[in-house]
Amino acid sequence: MKAGATAFSRARRRMVRQQIARRGVADPRVLDAMSSVPRERFVPRRMSNRAYADHPLPIGEGQTITQPYVVALMAEAMELAPTDRVLEIGTGSGYAAAVLGRIAAAVYTVERHASLAQEAQSRLSGLAYENVRVRHGDGTQGWDEHAPYDAISVAAAGLDVPQALREQLGPRGRLVIPVGPRNGTQRLIRERRGDERDFRRENLGAVRFVPLVGEGPA
Ligand code: SAH
Repeated sequence: MKAGATAFSRARRRMVRQQIARRGVADPRVLDAMSSVPRERFVPRRMSNRAYADHPLPIGEGQTITQPYVVALMAEAMELAPTDRVLEIGTGSGYAAAVLGRIAAAVYTVERHASLAQEAQSRLSGLAYENVRVRHGDGTQGWDEHAPYDAISVAAAGLDVPQALREQLGPRGRLVIPVGPRNGTQRLIRERRGDERDFRRENLGAVRFVPLVGEGPA
């Protein structure tokens, strides 16, 4: 167990250096969070030896845990402060929520597959990520009860930004989401809200995500 734990933390440090810092992610809070969350606990046990590989892995229900670099890229793009309240759509394994929970004050995350939502919640509670709350539901509707959010991330690709998410973003908030066709490459988009209901859109580059499936545009 001890030897295994050491090997995982070594693999984790190497991942942060070679896959994340080397590709330009520089926010120290993101690098610290990625260095501390035990990704091996968020992948199926038989795949724990591949937990730190540079690609997504299957987690059941046809879904995947996002590639480590993309989790870091999105977390950096959210420009999180320690007091921020965050909404994540697409809990999946709960890994990205745990990373966000290490950086921000509170994370609310929504997953449409009941089994994944349940597993993620028990995993996060078991690892004592007490500032992360999981809900089973359609994330294209957001999570109104805890709005407004300082930042929102969507871990699945839709054809456009669901309007409910824009509405739940507070003034000066940041929304990071892959936008584009389901079976191709999407663009990672950041929308920044100004002081009013004005949004400015930036393209952060090409990515590939599983589809966002819900009532909103998908
Ligand atoms: N952040 C996750 C990535 C999971 S992949 C992780 O670190 O593991 C994206 C997830 O989004 C999948 O689990 C999928 O079921 C979920 N999803 C897709 N459409 C959704 C929707 N409308 N509402 C909530 N979750 C959704």
